[in-house]
Amino acid sequence: YDDQKKLGFAIVGLGKFAQEQMMPAFKDCKYARITALVSGSPDKAKKLAAEYGVDAKNIYNYRNFDSIKDNPAVDVVYIVLPVGLHAEYTIRAAKAGKHVLCEKPMANTEKDCQQMIDACQKAGKKLMIAYRAQYEPFNLEAIARIRKGELGKVMQITADHGRIVDPTGDQADTWRVQKKLAGGGSLMDLGIYSLNAARYLTGEEPVEVTALEMSDQADPRFKEVEDRIHFTLRFPSGILATCTSSYSTEGVKRYRVFGQKAWLDLDPATDYYEHKMVIGDKDGQQQPKIKEGNQFAAELDHMAECVLQNKTPKTPGEEGLKDIRLIMAIYEAARTGKKVKV
Ligand code: NDP
Repeated sequence: YDDQKKLGFAIVGLGKFAQEQMMPAFKDCKYARITALVSGSPDKAKKLAAEYGVDAKNIYNYRNFDSIKDNPAVDVVYIVLPVGLHAEYTIRAAKAGKHVLCEKPMANTEKDCQQMIDACQKAGKKLMIAYRAQYEPFNLEAIARIRKGELGKVMQITADHGRIVDPTGDQADTWRVQKKLAGGGSLMDLGIYSLNAARYLTGEEPVEVTALEMSDQADPRFKEVEDRIHFTLRFPSGILATCTSSYSTEGVKRYRVFGQKAWLDLDPATDYYEHKMVIGDKDGQQQPKIKEGNQFAAELDHMAECVLQNKTPKTPGEEGLKDIRLIMAIYEAARTGKKVKV
């Protein structure tokens, strides 16, 4: 595919995830390339522009960002900022006439999500939320096997996501413990993988949630955001999902789907590069051969293809809003100790 025909992406926020995972993934993209950078740090932006062959005149900061509307080299704005800034920059990008790819979780509140959807719709631009797991081969294979009935009727799911958040050791964790910038704690950042997986694995929308939360009040990390949260989802067909998220236990990103005939385990399920599937039943276990693929490049190419072919993204703004609405219901259930209907 001709490099000049690829869609131009502006990367907004040159932090850890942008630099370590997403920017390098463009080399594997068929339809997407980096054409602009938006950053509060001019030196970092200049250095990365040189590294990625981005024209220095296509470097923006947060003040002059709106002038990106005059830059035909930019088709899509990719927002990799702290969550609390997603809404503002999505709306500004839409007003500048650009399509938007926005990182998960979509925004701090349902109202912000709705305003993002409305702004992109009004501008006639695509809005996609970067749910990378929905573009990742092992997860897609899990969904396909469940839909084919390989596990029999699905009855329950467990999903766990956690890691140790450490603002003293990692810049990227500074905003994660601030309510205004993160929207919440482990549930917003990691529990959303458990929640989103429960939804894409069942293909259903939960109707009821319960939750318990536990955060050490003496731990300075948890003054504003929660540490651990356990939540249960009941789906219309009767499937139950039990999910956990944590900011105080080391690396877990797994789920298990229990059917009447067999179970399917993905552990890790939502890693960047490594996945392992095991399927088991009363006769034993097997590990299907599935090839790892670049989920980041697949996600970026999907966004580009949706723009090129005028298609609605598989994970549009509405998908992001569904999770935020459920996350708010989970917080309410944890706060009140009552089950919440959604
Ligand atoms: P970082 O803190 O490393 O990056 C955020 C960047 O945003 C900063 O480097 C900075 O870039 C810019 N920024 C602008 N204003 C602020 C501010 N007030 N405070 C802090 N940074 C600011 O975070 P991550 O890279 O870990 O996360 C960025 C986004 O990506 C989040 O939405 C997060 O949820 C998402 N993410 C998604 C993952 C996934 O697997 N899909 C994994 C990790 C993160 P600059 O200096 O260039 O202005």
